[in-house]
Amino acid sequence: MKKEFVVIGLGRFGGSIVGELISQGAHVMAIDHSSDRVDEFASIATQAVVANSTDEAVLKSLGIRNFEHVIVAIGEDIQASILTTIILKEIGVEKITVKAQNDYHEKVLRKIGADFVVHPERDMGIRIANNMLSNTVLDY
Ligand code: ATP
Repeated sequence: MKKEFVVIGLGRFGGSIVGELISQGAHVMAIDHSSDRVDEFASIATQAVVANSTDEAVLKSLGIRNFEHVIVAIGEDIQASILTTIILKEIGVEKITVKAQNDYHEKVLRKIGADFVVHPERDMGIRIANNMLSNTVLDY
């Protein structure tokens, strides 16, 4: 059976996750409150939905609880990222990954029960620096 994911926030980070999951054969529901962003993903994702993820009723009506893993890829709006994560926990989503903007954001996310917290820019910087130091072929 195909794996089922939800990606909330279709910026560069969330968008690249959607593309990779789809290319690996997964089912992906892509959500953003910007209809322009959603239009971009309409032909890529399994389902692309315009929705504000801070609206609990909307998330419930989309059946988010039934997906295996939800990633919150909202960047600048830390309040929306935190509120979305709390709602996902309350709904009973099994696995939640959230993009953090900074260490304080990460601390809050861990307190409210995010399963995985990522800092894409920081993590990629560390990875590239390590690759540079070890002189490996530049393949990121
Ligand atoms: P990038 O991944 O491009 O670095 P970023 O970190 O700058 O992105 P934003 O552009 O602030 O992050 O947010 C990513 C996406 O999340 C945007 O497309 C934005 O429309 C979407 N977004 C923000 N808040 C919400 C929300 N409450 N509900 C749904 N989508 C949201």
